[in-house]
Amino acid sequence: MSAREQTITEFMIAEQRRFPAATGDFTALLNYVRLACKRISFIVGRGALAGIAGSAQTVNVQGETQVPLDVIANDIFLRTGEYGGHLAGMVSEELAEPYAIPDEYPRGRYLLSFDPLDGSSNIDINAPVGSIFSVLRAPRGSDPPSPEDFMQPGAQQLGAGYAIYGATTMIVLTVGRGVHGFTLDRGFGEFILTHPDMRIPEETSEFAINASNERFWEPPVRRYVIECLAGKSGVRGKDFNMRWIASLVAEVHRILIRGGLFMYPRDTKDPQRPGRLRLLYEANPMAMLIEQAGGAASTGRARVLDLVPDGLHQRVPLVLGCRQEVERIERYHAEHDQGLDAAYSSPLFKERSLFIQN
Ligand code: MN
Ligand code: MN
Repeated sequence: MSAREQTITEFMIAEQRRFPAATGDFTALLNYVRLACKRISFIVGRGALAGIAGSAQTVNVQGETQVPLDVIANDIFLRTGEYGGHLAGMVSEELAEPYAIPDEYPRGRYLLSFDPLDGSSNIDINAPVGSIFSVLRAPRGSDPPSPEDFMQPGAQQLGAGYAIYGATTMIVLTVGRGVHGFTLDRGFGEFILTHPDMRIPEETSEFAINASNERFWEPPVRRYVIECLAGKSGVRGKDFNMRWIASLVAEVHRILIRGGLFMYPRDTKDPQRPGRLRLLYEANPMAMLIEQAGGAASTGRARVLDLVPDGLHQRVPLVLGCRQEVERIERYHAEHDQGLDAAYSSPLFKERSLFIQN
């Protein structure tokens, strides 16, 4: 071993030392988040041996089918988070209301929002899943939290990250000074800094979108995808590849490693749901990571981190990745909203499928 390895805890302590007034509470909180991720990684890694494979018969507060691991991972986050004394409350994908810290534990100054298991339908096929987390300051100190306390724009996040449980387990983290990746050394159970200062490459020829929703897309999204599919012969002048892993964590991880663009855009499938992904514990933490790595995150019409949340489980359209691609899509939305993309908005154009020639 040449240079001394740095664990995630040592990394956080080094960050903390940059701020002489820091109390260490934030470092300690992230230490508990790391512990929750390690516990979940252990169970996910046991797979069918853990005896909890298959779909549960339960449905969560948002009407989505829960697998047993959704419930177990949620419980691990709650039990691990409440113990440390650094939180005033938590919001989870799996709970309708904020979780108040039980009286037996001290309360702290931070709020934690999380998706305990992202992409959980990937479990049975042994494809990557993850956990996503976001840390805010509790606006009213350590009082029991109200839903409004969590409804801060993402730009106010103190830190954000995810764990990815794939071939290796990693935590990818930002505390507002770049994005750093840590790989779990299963031999001695520590996350080691392996990916310092992750940067999204400027250019890409990869995009990810769920093409089965094509008929519900808005014209600016259709325009973007058509141009990518046209490849070398089209206005982009180069061939693109398409990707889709059905796990936001895995999509963002790929983009942080080798660039690309991810879209779950606004569509017309269900007018009650202007997007699919949840702002507080999916879009906001991922937007902070992507921006900290030099990329951009947008709804197509606004920067994600500027949105003022209006509900704990609010859904938003999400377009993130390489900055120039996100800016291109924002421009297409603006041109559409100003009626400048007539060719792409005509009914004739709408009827033509991108994938089926007719
Ligand atoms: Mn999710
Ligand atoms: Mn989930």
